[in-house]
Amino acid sequence: MRTVTRPTGGHLDVRPLTGADERSVGAPTRLEACRLAARVASLPPRSATEVPLVDIDAILRVIHEALYGDRVSSEVACRGCEDPLEVLLSLGAISEPPGELPVDRVGEVEYAVHGARFRLPTTADVIAVDSEPSEHRGEALRSRLLLDGELSVDVLDAALDEVACCHEANLEVRCERCGATTSAQFLLHEHLLRSIAMEQRWLIREIHLLASSYGWPLADIERLTRTERRQMARLIQADRAGAAP
Ligand SMILES: [Zn+2]
Repeated sequence: MRTVTRPTGGHLDVRPLTGADERSVGAPTRLEACRLAARVASLPPRSATEVPLVDIDAILRVIHEALYGDRVSSEVACRGCEDPLEVLLSLGAISEPPGELPVDRVGEVEYAVHGARFRLPTTADVIAVDSEPSEHRGEALRSRLLLDGELSVDVLDAALDEVACCHEANLEVRCERCGATTSAQFLLHEHLLRSIAMEQRWLIREIHLLASSYGWPLADIERLTRTERRQMARLIQADRAGAAP
Protein backbone atom coordinates (compact mmCIF):
# COMPACT_ATOMS: atom_id res chain seq x y z
CA MET A 1 0.00 0.00 0.00
CA ARG A 2 1.33 3.45 -0.87
CA THR A 3 0.06 6.77 0.40
CA VAL A 4 -0.57 9.55 -2.10
CA THR A 5 -0.71 13.18 -1.09
CA ARG A 6 -3.64 14.67 -2.97
CA PRO A 7 -2.72 17.98 -4.62
CA THR A 8 -6.16 19.27 -3.50
CA GLY A 9 -5.48 18.25 0.11
CA GLY A 10 -5.49 15.11 2.23
CA HIS A 11 -4.17 11.65 1.49
CA LEU A 12 -5.24 8.51 -0.31
CA ASP A 13 -4.06 4.93 0.09
CA VAL A 14 -3.24 3.26 -3.21
CA ARG A 15 -3.13 -0.54 -3.12
CA PRO A 16 -0.93 -2.64 -5.42
CA LEU A 17 -2.36 -3.58 -8.81
CA THR A 18 -3.93 -7.04 -9.12
CA GLY A 19 -4.55 -9.14 -12.21
CA ALA A 20 -8.21 -8.07 -12.14
CA ASP A 21 -7.10 -4.42 -12.32
CA GLU A 22 -4.74 -5.14 -15.19
CA ARG A 23 -7.42 -7.06 -17.08
CA SER A 24 -9.90 -4.20 -16.58
CA VAL A 25 -7.77 -1.75 -18.54
CA GLY A 26 -9.27 -0.85 -21.92
CA ALA A 27 -8.84 2.10 -24.28
CA PRO A 28 -6.32 4.74 -23.07
CA THR A 29 -8.96 7.39 -22.34
CA ARG A 30 -9.42 9.74 -19.40
CA LEU A 31 -12.53 7.78 -18.35
CA GLU A 32 -10.68 4.44 -18.27
CA ALA A 33 -7.80 6.05 -16.37
CA CYS A 34 -10.27 7.45 -13.85
CA ARG A 35 -11.82 3.99 -13.42
CA LEU A 36 -8.42 2.41 -12.78
CA ALA A 37 -7.49 5.13 -10.27
CA ALA A 38 -10.85 4.69 -8.52
CA ARG A 39 -10.31 0.91 -8.22
CA VAL A 40 -6.87 1.07 -6.64
CA ALA A 41 -7.49 4.12 -4.45
CA SER A 42 -11.00 3.01 -3.33
CA LEU A 43 -12.72 6.12 -4.66
CA PRO A 44 -16.50 5.70 -4.92
CA PRO A 45 -16.93 4.68 -8.60
CA ARG A 46 -19.96 6.91 -9.14
CA SER A 47 -18.29 10.09 -7.95
CA ALA A 48 -14.76 9.37 -9.20
CA THR A 49 -15.40 11.33 -12.39
CA GLU A 50 -16.01 14.39 -10.18
CA VAL A 51 -12.55 14.11 -8.58
CA PRO A 52 -10.13 16.75 -9.95
CA LEU A 53 -7.86 15.40 -12.69
CA VAL A 54 -4.83 16.54 -10.74
CA ASP A 55 -5.73 14.05 -7.97
CA ILE A 56 -6.42 11.27 -10.48
CA ASP A 57 -3.02 11.96 -12.06
CA ALA A 58 -1.31 11.75 -8.67
CA ILE A 59 -2.77 8.23 -8.27
CA LEU A 60 -1.75 7.27 -11.82
CA ARG A 61 1.77 8.49 -11.13
CA VAL A 62 2.04 6.23 -8.07
CA ILE A 63 0.82 3.28 -10.17
CA HIS A 64 3.38 4.13 -12.86
CA GLU A 65 6.19 4.41 -10.32
CA ALA A 66 5.25 1.06 -8.74
CA LEU A 67 5.15 -0.72 -12.10
CA TYR A 68 7.78 1.04 -14.19
CA GLY A 69 9.57 3.63 -12.05
CA ASP A 70 9.78 7.39 -12.58
CA ARG A 71 11.43 7.25 -16.00
CA VAL A 72 9.35 7.06 -19.15
CA SER A 73 10.63 5.77 -22.43
CA SER A 74 8.46 5.81 -25.53
CA GLU A 75 8.84 6.09 -29.27
CA VAL A 76 7.64 8.51 -31.90
CA ALA A 77 8.17 8.26 -35.68
CA CYS A 78 10.49 10.94 -37.12
CA ARG A 79 8.56 13.52 -39.14
CA GLY A 80 11.37 13.56 -41.74
CA CYS A 81 12.60 10.00 -42.28
CA GLU A 82 10.02 8.03 -40.25
CA ASP A 83 12.77 6.38 -38.20
CA PRO A 84 11.69 5.60 -34.62
CA LEU A 85 12.89 8.27 -32.18
CA GLU A 86 13.22 7.53 -28.50
CA VAL A 87 11.49 9.92 -26.09
CA LEU A 88 12.87 9.85 -22.55
CA LEU A 89 11.50 11.82 -19.64
CA SER A 90 11.06 11.77 -15.90
CA LEU A 91 7.58 12.10 -14.36
CA GLY A 92 9.00 14.27 -11.58
CA ALA A 93 10.41 16.74 -14.11
CA ILE A 94 7.13 17.32 -15.99
CA SER A 95 4.85 17.81 -12.99
CA GLU A 96 6.46 21.07 -11.86
CA PRO A 97 4.01 23.95 -12.34
CA PRO A 98 5.33 27.02 -14.21
CA GLY A 99 3.97 29.43 -11.56
CA GLU A 100 3.64 32.66 -13.58
CA LEU A 101 0.20 33.96 -12.56
CA PRO A 102 -0.87 35.25 -9.13
CA VAL A 103 -3.35 32.41 -8.53
CA ASP A 104 -4.84 32.14 -5.03
CA ARG A 105 -6.35 29.07 -3.49
CA VAL A 106 -9.78 29.84 -2.02
CA GLY A 107 -10.99 26.33 -1.17
CA GLU A 108 -10.14 22.70 -1.76
CA VAL A 109 -10.74 22.87 -5.48
CA GLU A 110 -11.43 26.56 -6.03
CA TYR A 111 -8.96 29.25 -7.05
CA ALA A 112 -9.03 32.94 -7.86
CA VAL A 113 -7.11 34.94 -10.44
CA HIS A 114 -7.66 38.55 -11.54
CA GLY A 115 -10.77 38.70 -9.32
CA ALA A 116 -12.43 35.68 -10.99
CA ARG A 117 -13.04 32.30 -9.34
CA PHE A 118 -12.74 28.93 -11.06
CA ARG A 119 -12.71 25.28 -10.02
CA LEU A 120 -10.39 22.47 -11.09
CA PRO A 121 -11.29 20.30 -14.09
CA THR A 122 -12.46 16.72 -13.56
CA THR A 123 -12.83 13.64 -15.76
CA ALA A 124 -16.52 14.55 -16.19
CA ASP A 125 -15.46 17.96 -17.58
CA VAL A 126 -13.06 16.36 -20.07
CA ILE A 127 -15.75 13.93 -21.26
CA ALA A 128 -18.31 16.74 -21.66
CA VAL A 129 -15.86 18.99 -23.51
CA ASP A 130 -14.59 16.21 -25.79
CA SER A 131 -18.04 15.89 -27.33
CA GLU A 132 -17.74 19.50 -28.60
CA PRO A 133 -16.06 20.43 -31.92
CA SER A 134 -12.34 21.04 -31.23
CA GLU A 135 -12.58 24.81 -31.88
CA HIS A 136 -15.21 25.18 -29.13
CA ARG A 137 -13.53 23.05 -26.45
CA GLY A 138 -11.60 25.87 -24.77
CA GLU A 139 -14.76 27.94 -24.41
CA ALA A 140 -16.80 24.92 -23.28
CA LEU A 141 -14.27 24.18 -20.53
CA ARG A 142 -14.16 27.83 -19.50
CA SER A 143 -17.92 27.99 -19.09
CA ARG A 144 -17.91 24.81 -16.97
CA LEU A 145 -15.05 25.85 -14.68
CA LEU A 146 -15.70 29.56 -14.21
CA LEU A 147 -17.64 30.15 -10.98
CA ASP A 148 -17.56 33.90 -10.67
CA GLY A 149 -16.22 36.89 -12.63
CA GLU A 150 -14.63 37.01 -16.09
CA LEU A 151 -11.60 35.14 -17.44
CA SER A 152 -10.39 34.65 -21.00
CA VAL A 153 -9.75 31.11 -22.19
CA ASP A 154 -6.00 31.87 -22.40
CA VAL A 155 -5.76 33.23 -18.85
CA LEU A 156 -7.75 30.27 -17.52
CA ASP A 157 -5.41 27.89 -19.40
CA ALA A 158 -2.36 29.54 -17.86
CA ALA A 159 -3.96 29.49 -14.40
CA LEU A 160 -4.77 25.78 -14.76
CA ASP A 161 -1.19 25.09 -15.82
CA GLU A 162 -0.07 26.68 -12.60
CA VAL A 163 -2.42 25.02 -10.10
CA ALA A 164 -3.63 21.86 -11.80
CA CYS A 165 -0.53 20.80 -13.65
CA CYS A 166 -1.22 17.23 -14.80
CA HIS A 167 1.46 14.88 -16.01
CA GLU A 168 1.51 16.11 -19.57
CA ALA A 169 4.30 17.41 -21.73
CA ASN A 170 4.85 18.63 -25.25
CA LEU A 171 8.34 17.65 -26.34
CA GLU A 172 10.51 18.37 -29.37
CA VAL A 173 12.75 15.49 -30.42
CA ARG A 174 15.55 16.02 -32.93
CA CYS A 175 16.45 13.18 -35.30
CA GLU A 176 20.20 12.45 -35.45
CA ARG A 177 19.82 10.89 -38.87
CA CYS A 178 17.96 13.53 -40.89
CA GLY A 179 18.02 16.54 -38.55
CA ALA A 180 14.21 17.00 -38.55
CA THR A 181 12.47 18.01 -35.33
CA THR A 182 9.34 16.08 -34.37
CA SER A 183 6.76 17.12 -31.77
CA ALA A 184 5.70 14.47 -29.30
CA GLN A 185 2.90 14.85 -26.79
CA PHE A 186 3.14 12.86 -23.58
CA LEU A 187 0.02 12.19 -21.51
CA LEU A 188 0.57 10.07 -18.42
CA HIS A 189 -2.88 8.46 -18.46
CA GLU A 190 -2.49 7.38 -22.09
CA HIS A 191 1.03 6.10 -21.61
CA LEU A 192 0.21 4.15 -18.44
CA LEU A 193 -2.92 2.50 -19.84
CA ARG A 194 -1.14 1.57 -23.09
CA SER A 195 1.77 0.07 -21.14
CA ILE A 196 -0.55 -2.06 -18.99
CA ALA A 197 -2.64 -3.11 -22.02
CA MET A 198 0.52 -4.19 -23.88
CA GLU A 199 1.38 -6.52 -21.01
CA GLN A 200 -2.04 -8.20 -20.94
CA ARG A 201 -0.74 -11.05 -23.12
CA TRP A 202 1.86 -11.84 -20.42
CA LEU A 203 -0.87 -11.61 -17.81
CA ILE A 204 -2.92 -14.28 -19.60
CA ARG A 205 0.16 -16.51 -19.82
CA GLU A 206 0.87 -16.08 -16.09
CA ILE A 207 -2.76 -16.83 -15.20
CA HIS A 208 -2.58 -19.95 -17.36
CA LEU A 209 0.61 -21.11 -15.63
CA LEU A 210 -0.89 -20.65 -12.16
CA ALA A 211 -4.25 -22.18 -13.08
CA SER A 212 -2.68 -25.24 -14.73
CA SER A 213 -0.18 -25.77 -11.86
CA TYR A 214 -2.26 -25.03 -8.78
CA GLY A 215 -5.78 -25.61 -10.08
CA TRP A 216 -6.93 -22.30 -8.58
CA PRO A 217 -10.04 -20.60 -9.97
CA LEU A 218 -9.52 -17.53 -12.18
CA ALA A 219 -11.04 -15.15 -9.61
CA ASP A 220 -8.52 -16.24 -6.95
CA ILE A 221 -5.56 -15.81 -9.31
CA GLU A 222 -6.83 -12.39 -10.39
CA ARG A 223 -6.89 -11.27 -6.78
CA LEU A 224 -3.14 -11.80 -6.44
CA THR A 225 -1.03 -8.71 -6.76
CA ARG A 226 1.01 -8.40 -9.90
CA THR A 227 4.22 -8.98 -7.92
CA GLU A 228 2.93 -12.18 -6.24
CA ARG A 229 1.59 -13.56 -9.51
CA ARG A 230 4.83 -12.91 -11.36
CA GLN A 231 6.94 -14.50 -8.63
CA MET A 232 4.77 -17.63 -8.65
CA ALA A 233 4.83 -17.81 -12.45
CA ARG A 234 8.63 -17.60 -12.40
CA LEU A 235 8.86 -20.41 -9.85
CA ILE A 236 6.55 -22.64 -11.91
CA GLN A 237 8.61 -21.94 -15.02
CA ALA A 238 11.82 -22.74 -13.13
CA ASP A 239 10.31 -26.01 -11.83
CA ARG A 240 9.20 -26.98 -15.32
CA ALA A 241 12.60 -26.12 -16.80
CA GLY A 242 14.25 -28.23 -14.03
CA ALA A 243 11.89 -31.17 -14.68
CA ALA A 244 12.47 -31.14 -18.43
CA PRO A 245 14.66 -34.05 -19.66
ZN1 LIG B 1 14.70 11.54 -39.18
